[in-house]
Amino acid sequence: MSQPLLDLPEPFKWTVDSVCAVCGKEGLLGRRYRNEYWPDLEFFNQLTVVACSGCGFGYVPHPPTDTELETFYATRYRGPSSPYFVWRRGPGREPFRSRALSQLGSVSRHTDLRRPGHIVLDVGAGLGEVLRLQTILNPTSRCFAVEQDLHARTDLERRLAVAGTTSISDFLTVHPEGADVVVLSHVLEHISHMDLASFLLLVRDALRGSGGIALIEVPNDDSILGLPSEDSPHLLFFSEKALRELLSRSGLEILCVERLGQRTPVAPSSPRLARLKNLKRFSLIASLADLRGQASQRGRADWFGVTELTASPVGSVLRVIVRQA
Ligand SMILES: [Zn+2]
Repeated sequence: MSQPLLDLPEPFKWTVDSVCAVCGKEGLLGRRYRNEYWPDLEFFNQLTVVACSGCGFGYVPHPPTDTELETFYATRYRGPSSPYFVWRRGPGREPFRSRALSQLGSVSRHTDLRRPGHIVLDVGAGLGEVLRLQTILNPTSRCFAVEQDLHARTDLERRLAVAGTTSISDFLTVHPEGADVVVLSHVLEHISHMDLASFLLLVRDALRGSGGIALIEVPNDDSILGLPSEDSPHLLFFSEKALRELLSRSGLEILCVERLGQRTPVAPSSPRLARLKNLKRFSLIASLADLRGQASQRGRADWFGVTELTASPVGSVLRVIVRQA
């Protein structure tokens, strides 16, 4: 049931007679889904978004089917016309590389990445920059990737000698002991609200006992109610409050939350990026040591063209480190 809503500013146009699954507030706000990158995919054009003014959580109430999504991520998401094209080379890779370094910096404050035989699982690995840097840092690491795009997965297996699968369940079948580090960089927002709870339980299962940690990074959508945004192909929109609640409910203890990045893209910081261009093992170790000292104040990462992420009260990105509760 919905009714017109006249007082609210754009972009939310109507109210939805529904209760927030996160905070329990009655009455959500609705608008059409914005699909800029894949306008030919009708199943994105037809979606709506609802959001809670109480906790800032947003979701797509009627997501595409599993088959539509599986086909999309296997063939289009990392295809040539996508901003996430997997064969990016040269400068196009730099933002992903700096983000991966920043993420390993955050992880290294909670676990020793140089421990022999460390198992690292990157879910939605894409270009595999996290695994590539981890292998340089610690050649004894055992690296695994969950990646649905066949070309990306084959590239990871050939170029980085990473073992690739298409699901966390497949990884657990082979390694029931779990991973020391699980990375979910901009993955959670692609899961449907119906699958989120079971997906997070799977993430929890993928952690090795109480010692395993996961890095979960998502766009910070706490201003979803007021900020024009590009939606596709995201199905969930997290505020910090909602993300904390959902992770805690899934048996995950939050060790740290970082808010990184600006709302508006900023120019690359060239001296810092120049240092990243010819990474060798020792410069990586030095960079990680550097980041350990200052990561609570600053971070280096990328979210969609932003090549420098600085800690800020608002932040375009939420980065959370969790372990089994
Ligand atoms: Zn809510």
